[in-house]
Amino acid sequence: ADEATLDPWGSSTIADYRKLFEQFGIEEFDEVLPEVPNPHYLMRRGVIFGHRDYRPVAEAMRNDDPFAALSGFMPTGDPHIGHKLVFDEIIWHQQQGGDAHALIADLEAHSARGLSWDEIDEHATDYVLSLLALGFDPDEGTLYRQSDNREVQDLAFELGAEANFSELQAIYDFDGETDISHMQSVVTQMADILYPQLDGPKPTVIPVGPDQDPHMRLARDLAARMRFFGVTEAFASFEADGVERTLLRQAYDAREDYAEDADRPRCGEAANWLRDHQPAPADARDSVVAKLDEAGKEPLRPRVRFLDRNATEGAFEALIEAIDGEKRVYDEHIDTFDLDHAEAEELARQVELDTGGYGFQPPSSIYHRFMTGLTGGKMSSSIPASHISLLDDPEDGYDKVKSATTGGRSTAEEQREKGGKADECPVYELYAYLLSGDDDEFAKEVYDECVGGERLCGGCKEQAAELMEQFLEEHQEKRAEWEDRLDELDIDLDS
Ligand code: SF4
Repeated sequence: ADEATLDPWGSSTIADYRKLFEQFGIEEFDEVLPEVPNPHYLMRRGVIFGHRDYRPVAEAMRNDDPFAALSGFMPTGDPHIGHKLVFDEIIWHQQQGGDAHALIADLEAHSARGLSWDEIDEHATDYVLSLLALGFDPDEGTLYRQSDNREVQDLAFELGAEANFSELQAIYDFDGETDISHMQSVVTQMADILYPQLDGPKPTVIPVGPDQDPHMRLARDLAARMRFFGVTEAFASFEADGVERTLLRQAYDAREDYAEDADRPRCGEAANWLRDHQPAPADARDSVVAKLDEAGKEPLRPRVRFLDRNATEGAFEALIEAIDGEKRVYDEHIDTFDLDHAEAEELARQVELDTGGYGFQPPSSIYHRFMTGLTGGKMSSSIPASHISLLDDPEDGYDKVKSATTGGRSTAEEQREKGGKADECPVYELYAYLLSGDDDEFAKEVYDECVGGERLCGGCKEQAAELMEQFLEEHQEKRAEWEDRLDELDIDLDS
């Protein structure tokens, strides 16, 4: 397909990650990598290839400031080695000092995938056991089920007031047949994403596959919509010649004059009054709309929507209201409005918190590559031979690796001569994503030996199969230990 499509509930594969950078504004992870202290091997090896706004998280890590990481798991089947990537990402952020959250997305599994509550209960326990076995610390982190979390439900309700059907339709391709519970599961998921910030705004990272990006864009939009001070941000992001600032400043002064005259009604007539008086307020409005539009890809879009949706006069009213709401910020900072964006953000957030708002910081995300199925094509929960379940008998794991597709040549001779195609080899992926663990040298050795023709597929698969068997054995031992301790946890795994 020409267009990269991102469908969180579909089965589309993403052929060309580069399109994601161009079409959806996901940034390359390599650019932020040098800012990350002790990056995880999945980051070093490019398995985590993209991000949205990860810098604040990296900065918090460097400065020992609070930050959070959260991921939800839809318990639709056994957890497999693809899910392990996400488990590892959450656990690593926890080990870096993050406030880690893992949740069972049971409402989403029930409404969007149609799973029964019994099926969900069974799989939920399996996800939690694997997460714990891989190193998640339940004393430091938070585990919950969506349906049990009252705060998430309440927040979802609030967030639902900021989104409407047309918007969900546009993002998720919903139509008249889409049931309400499915829509409700969307706002619940938005609430999950913002949940770590209920006790105070902090950088929060959501590790996801690229198909989940629509959720991230909506969550970032909603986080901004819960803010009262969009125009302040707009000011802060005006990098141009200051003309817009001046115009807005004039409009603001004009509004102040207007407000001093107590007899005048507010808003509706204010637009007319402004038009008749201080300088070209209509230009100011157009300029704001244009600027917001330009900058509107990210947190400013809500204001654009607000301004666009209303007629000219209404748009202006909105502007006046927004400016009114930001009076405090203005009073303190109008003369020093050369704040950089981050400072203005911080300021706006502070004002918002002081006035009883949430002060949400738009959540960040990191994107990992999907693992190739062992049989080629996509790794899929519904094709057992394509993946290795974390619950697979270790010997079955061994056998699956032994029968996997490789990037090898048709004969040993050709392989020695031309080298194998490690970049197209699911077995090499197993080494890079899992079997080499933190040992970059080992991963590199396998790669170099393969492409250099020194490594042949038979021996390579044997080694991988043995390592996989060993990994599964150890993992399942740890799962068994946790199984005996499940009642110590703060999470009720049964619905
Ligand atoms: Fe894949 Fe190993 Fe064969 Fe290279 S030698 S193509 S990494 S199985």
